[in-house]
Amino acid sequence: MALAARMDRLGTETAFAVSLAAADWAAKGHRVYPFHLGDIDLATPANIVEAMNRAIADGKTGYCPAAGVPALRAALAENIGTDRGMELQAENIVVQTGGKPVITKFVQTLVDPGDGVLFPNPGYPIYESQVEYYGGTPLPYRYIETPTGFAIDLDQLRELAPHAKALIYNNLQNPLGCESSMDEMQAIADLAIEHDLWVLSDEAYFEMRYAGESTSIAALPGMAERTVILYTFSKKFAMTGWRLGCAAAPIEVATMIAKINTNDESCTTHFVQEAGVEALRDPSGAAPMLTELQRRRDAAVAAIAGIPGVSCATPDSTFYLFPNVTVAMAMTGFTDVGDFATAALHETGVSFCTRRHFGRPQPDEEQQYIRFAYSGIGVDDITEGLGKLGDWIGSAS
Ligand code: PLP
Repeated sequence: MALAARMDRLGTETAFAVSLAAADWAAKGHRVYPFHLGDIDLATPANIVEAMNRAIADGKTGYCPAAGVPALRAALAENIGTDRGMELQAENIVVQTGGKPVITKFVQTLVDPGDGVLFPNPGYPIYESQVEYYGGTPLPYRYIETPTGFAIDLDQLRELAPHAKALIYNNLQNPLGCESSMDEMQAIADLAIEHDLWVLSDEAYFEMRYAGESTSIAALPGMAERTVILYTFSKKFAMTGWRLGCAAAPIEVATMIAKINTNDESCTTHFVQEAGVEALRDPSGAAPMLTELQRRRDAAVAAIAGIPGVSCATPDSTFYLFPNVTVAMAMTGFTDVGDFATAALHETGVSFCTRRHFGRPQPDEEQQYIRFAYSGIGVDDITEGLGKLGDWIGSAS
């Protein structure tokens, strides 16, 4: 008996293999410094937890509307619209079990087999997986390293855009930690309008910033009617395991996504949605988390500055750093970034993902990169772990 042929095209988050390797190393009695996790080791604010407990006690434990409970849809429309300077109605909002389902539902709703879909590479690996799974033609676009971070290769994007029906855009980017200048964002919006593309704006990190203000591409002229926003409670409120997010979409798309909800999970857990209403009513618990994450970013950037052969910019948003390790690999005698990561784990206990965990590398890539997430490790361990990494690389030269 054979599995469905499309299963061959289903990708995954290979970063979970890094977690397994780290757990295995720790189980053997070694100290591990976890820079691989995109999860947050901070507690969900108490008012949100209490609201969920109240909702369970009040019996909000049954099925509820597929598109989400009215109070949450209204609160999300108000919140997402105000933060982005857009007009949104409750009908634009379809509640989801996290932000991730918006990716598959965007593809299911708008991409036919053979349609080209542009997506960032390096980027969140689920884009590539879902586009290929549903028979879309993958059109990965690259980033160029700059003195202040990374910029989208707009020349490549302009070449690819005529072949696309949809564009996935992740400003405040995982894994790069970078964000578009206003000029870059406008150039992408211009391309989307010129080629009449549907756009998925993955805004998972919209609120995770330490300086400046986030802008949504959906708020630029001519974009609201073609853009689906991926919104999530996961990062902002340290609610990764609760599974709560939404799509904010043009009404015809939102209606179809709600229909997929009915076919798929029926609804998002009612009492979790009530907790979401409270999170939006009183989001004050999010601010201390950002302060802590900023301390971690500063500690990590300072420690990396002391590691020979490793360099990275200081992002104003996300909780990721994407250092260039080309020189450090040469110093330690590695040509394969996976081997470098394994040796670093075994020699220093520092565990991290590499560029390879974020989409299939493009053929002409020469520089080597790794990703440090600082959402699951405190300041003292950041400094200690990266100090050990620096000593190991330094001693090999
Ligand atoms: N998009 C990006 C860029 C992410 O990094 C993540 C999670 O790490 C998600 C979407 C999905 O997050 P969730 O499903 O927890 O909302």
